[in-house]
Amino acid sequence: MGGNSPCASCKLLRRRCTKDCTFAPYFPSDDPQKFAIVHKVFGASNVSKMLQELPVHQRADAVSSLVYEANARVRDPVYGCVGAISYLQNQVSELQMQLAVAQAEILCIQMEHEPVMPASQIDLDHKSYFLQNDLSQFLAFDSSSNVMQQFCP
Ligand SMILES: [Zn+2]
Repeated sequence: MGGNSPCASCKLLRRRCTKDCTFAPYFPSDDPQKFAIVHKVFGASNVSKMLQELPVHQRADAVSSLVYEANARVRDPVYGCVGAISYLQNQVSELQMQLAVAQAEILCIQMEHEPVMPASQIDLDHKSYFLQNDLSQFLAFDSSSNVMQQFCP
């Protein structure tokens, strides 16, 4: 490379970094850890094959994905980034549960303060309240978990 330092990959693999090196654009010599971790998890020759099969404009994205997955795999050797995904999915469903409970409480408090009227007398404000809060979704949730009984004894 005419005096230039080899890329992080060629340095680690102890080979000459040519000007058409597949790794050089994505693994600069000033960040050796980036290639080291990808090499450890996927193996340099697999990474090289994967990059060569991709059009050049997709390679940078593929490299950041490989680096992300390799880091996740080192943190959690069993699940890798699936571990992080399922942790976040659990958080989402817990929060959806809390939201449904809070919506049930709101509905309950409203019903305590405003006695239920026959459907024909429900005014526009009530209709828009039910629309905004997607009553059908709320009722579907309620039938499976008795939230209303919990908050409206
Ligand atoms: Zn190189």
